Amino acid sequence: MSVDVTPYRRVGRLDGRCLCGDVQITVDGPHVAAVGACHCAMCRRWSGVVQGGFAADPAGVTVTGAVATYASSKFAERAFCPTCGSHLWFRDTDGDAEYEFAPGVFAAAADFPLISEIYIDRAPAYARLAGDHATATRAEYEARSLFVEGDDP
Ligand SMILES: [Zn+2]
Ligand SMILES: [Zn+2]
Repeated sequence: MSVDVTPYRRVGRLDGRCLCGDVQITVDGPHVAAVGACHCAMCRRWSGVVQGGFAADPAGVTVTGAVATYASSKFAERAFCPTCGSHLWFRDTDGDAEYEFAPGVFAAAADFPLISEIYIDRAPAYARLAGDHATATRAEYEARSLFVEGDDP
């Protein structure tokens, strides 16, 4: 997926929290005010339906409260609240990678458009997303990105 996110780059503040409120997240800096969705087998299993995320520069991110992480692959982890289970973010573990935040954690993200959808050929019948956003099949995505071998169900 090579979507030009330039029109969606913003610098500003977003406040988020998990379901129980133990985890509070502030994004106060550069972020992309638009969402990408992924239907790979891991994202589907982790999210329960379809995984979405928006990118934020780590320099502007403040997290308070205990957070649990799961290393879902050699290069990335998924974070959640250990009390209520809310999914918080996906992030490459390689250095100072940007966050891919779960948009549902941030009330203001309700206005973010969907701009990309990957593994579209793997989308389950109950999670077909309407719109004219950019899409990529598994093969198209894996040809140019880090991925987990196999994407087994
Ligand atoms: Zn919580
Ligand atoms: Zn995925």
